[in-house]
Amino acid sequence: MSMTTPDGNDAVPGSGASDGDRIDAVLRQAADIARPAAKDGHVADYIPALAGANPDGFAIAMVDLDGTEHLHGDVDVTFPIQSISKVFSLVLAMQKADASSSVRDELWSRVGREPSGDPFNSLVQLEHEQGIPRNPMINAGALVIDDVLLDHCEDSKRSTLELLELLAGESLTVDRDVYDSEQGSSTRNRAMANLMASFGNLRHSVDEVMDPYVYACAISMSARQLARAVRFLANDGIEPDSGERILTPRHARRVAAIMLTCGTYDASGEFAYSVGLPCKSGVAGGIVGVVPGRMGICVWSPPLDGSGNSRAGRIALHEIAERLDLSVV
Ligand code: GLU
Repeated sequence: MSMTTPDGNDAVPGSGASDGDRIDAVLRQAADIARPAAKDGHVADYIPALAGANPDGFAIAMVDLDGTEHLHGDVDVTFPIQSISKVFSLVLAMQKADASSSVRDELWSRVGREPSGDPFNSLVQLEHEQGIPRNPMINAGALVIDDVLLDHCEDSKRSTLELLELLAGESLTVDRDVYDSEQGSSTRNRAMANLMASFGNLRHSVDEVMDPYVYACAISMSARQLARAVRFLANDGIEPDSGERILTPRHARRVAAIMLTCGTYDASGEFAYSVGLPCKSGVAGGIVGVVPGRMGICVWSPPLDGSGNSRAGRIALHEIAERLDLSVV
């Protein structure tokens, strides 16, 4: 039975309620508080396929390590994962680094692990820092990761999709509209790739590197699928349903550390402060979060704030983390 407070919000069920009821009530409260903020945000409009997103779409999905789901809103509506894909490209590269110390040395000499403090598609730092991107969660860093993967995967596009299918437990599709229009409108990303090439930090041609980058951004997933897909990072690198090891515990922690410090563009400090979870956002309005030892989370709401993070999504994550005391810091 749901209870209502004087201001009209659902109250959190009391001590007799199950954990599940309490979490579901928190999701409803977080949604009530967060959803109105979407109207002050702006849906990404650099390509028509994103500009047409429903600004009222909203979802929260939390999936425990044992598979229990806590869901609110449009949890089965799919959207392009965009920069959330950067987590999984890094995971593939970390798998290669796990297997070979020379890949590990190469990887971390070509991309850093510091927050950038600059917009995700900024060229400024690259010029000052001799073509070495600050971290793998910004566009330039992901392009270097894709360049590394081209050398170490037979087909890095297929590897990325297969990894996500394994983690989501379902087959997935790629949004061809997004893929085609991003290929035709990525002048800024190409500028970054060219600048890095001029410093010798790209081995393949700009076209070769852009292709897997754009492909990964165009993979379509729902909030429910994404929440499932990040659970291995909360589980010492093991996918909890199949028991398959994806990363060593050490590398799973390191991916989460990079998400915490660098995963939400130039608002990563603010996210660490107000949410306190390893997160990664994408410009289609999705944000994934990792609660170590407990669950994967995904929130989705397309209108973005000035840093490119989902406006309502950030507020929802803050409310959930506060009310369920999930922060890792
Ligand atoms: N496709 C977008 C780009 O490359 C992804 C940006 C994002 O989600 O942050 O600019």
